[in-house]
Amino acid sequence: MGNTDFQPLKTSLRGLLIEPGDERYEAARRVYNGMIDRRPAAIARCADVADVIAAVNFGRDHGTKLAVRSGGHNAAGLGICDDGLVIDLSPMKGIRVDPKARTVQVQAGCVWGDVDHAAHAFGLATPSGIISTTGVGGLTLGGGLGHLTRKCGLTIDNLLAADVVLADGSFVTASAEEDPDLYWALRGGGGNFGVVTSFLFRAHPLEMIYGGPTLWELDQAADVLRLYRDFLPQAPEDVNGFFAFLVVPPAPMFPEYLHLRKMCGIVWCCTGGHQEAEAATRPLRSFGPPAFDYVGVMPFPAFQSAFDPLYPPGLQWYWKADFVNELSDEAIALHVKHGAGVPTTHSTMHLYPIDGAAHRVGSGETAFSYRDARWAMVVVGVDPDPANKDLITAWARDYWEDLHPYSAGGAYVNFMMEEGEERIRATYRGNYERLAAVKRKYDPGNLFRVNQNIKPAAQA
Ligand SMILES: Cc1cc2nc3c(=O)[nH]c(=O)nc-3n(C[C@H](O)[C@H](O)[C@H](O)COP(=O)(O)OP(=O)(O)OC[C@H]3O[C@@H](n4cnc5c(N)ncnc54)[C@H](O)[C@@H]3O)c2cc1C
Repeated sequence: MGNTDFQPLKTSLRGLLIEPGDERYEAARRVYNGMIDRRPAAIARCADVADVIAAVNFGRDHGTKLAVRSGGHNAAGLGICDDGLVIDLSPMKGIRVDPKARTVQVQAGCVWGDVDHAAHAFGLATPSGIISTTGVGGLTLGGGLGHLTRKCGLTIDNLLAADVVLADGSFVTASAEEDPDLYWALRGGGGNFGVVTSFLFRAHPLEMIYGGPTLWELDQAADVLRLYRDFLPQAPEDVNGFFAFLVVPPAPMFPEYLHLRKMCGIVWCCTGGHQEAEAATRPLRSFGPPAFDYVGVMPFPAFQSAFDPLYPPGLQWYWKADFVNELSDEAIALHVKHGAGVPTTHSTMHLYPIDGAAHRVGSGETAFSYRDARWAMVVVGVDPDPANKDLITAWARDYWEDLHPYSAGGAYVNFMMEEGEERIRATYRGNYERLAAVKRKYDPGNLFRVNQNIKPAAQA
């Protein structure tokens, strides 16, 4: 790979081609997870679709490994690779909101904060994740869980069409009408099928939300988890709340006496009427009472970006995840045990609800198969100091190993490290064979394999 001459690609790009030795190389090869340290042979900073087509054709014709990068947030570092060519979409930042049709067309280099900002000007929002610096590309293609899941569904449930550069260099727009098999696979199947250059999303009228954290002491955690387990599935779909074990950050919004305390909490995000939201969440928020309750009305983009400062790029991250159908009392006891051992200030465990609108889509209707799961659990060991890499990794692994027997089997692809084909199959369950068949049709040579890889089905 070291001998590949990238000059022909360089001259055909409108954007930049960055190679080792270029003063921009070190910054360009960095991804969000500071644990990832890969050295590609070249990074094509694509300015437009033509650049993406040129890079795909070059990679295919030269047998070059290709990685595709949107926001660079993937914990396993799947937006970058050693030796190969990175198709970096980050300069492609166009967004067009159509307020009449209530849609947002988003180029693949955008992060969610860009979308929130653009849509908010029209009183609209599209469901995404909980940190606004996450890339639109990877989050969407894996599924997309966040504050609006119960009300508006997964991000993919709001994906109306996607522009895609395929492995043969051709360009298609996949939707329910055109290339419906590709459209099906893109909604949860990750970056396996081509480079998506633009996404068309449905947007929802939403300006202000009623949200924020309620925190309890750890000795109340088992009771809070039991109440949460019973409360949330019955709550109106306007009410979303994810559960967390956390260390209270020394941030001004928290009183000083709570700083650096290990606690548990629920982070609320309610749509609809604020008085109704207050009344609906009151039964849980008055339990205990909590040590801290900081819930109020704020613009959706402000809430979406509220946690960004806690998680700047470059920290060490190690993730373990599972889908969860039930939170039994035995599982709750194990959560409390490991939650009390959160090893560093940034480390955390989250349980994200997957129900409401997300449950109204069948397991086979999109590639995302776990429509019957109630929660996505993710244990994340995080710390700025590389010396703590083993500590955070061991905690996340031990926590996950104890809880895994109580899980539904697979995990959300966007919360996984590189964990092997068995885990990927467990995640797609009954959809795996169909995904492999779609992969064979659109990428028979597995050109796009730096991802949670689905191998092309063998020819009959
Ligand atoms: C701090 C943090 C918070 C998060 N919170 C949430 C959350 O609330 N909800 C949630 O659902 N997820 C969340 N995630 C997980 C997130 O969805 C994944 O990390 C996702 O892979 C990030 O997408 P990206 O575009 O930034 O990543 P990248 O590293 O750029 O890409 C990730 C993968 O997607 C592929 N890909 C990206 N863009 C394209 C494209 N345009 N065409 C083809 N393939 C592409 C890449 O090849 C790679 O395999 C979070 C991650 C972090 C780090």
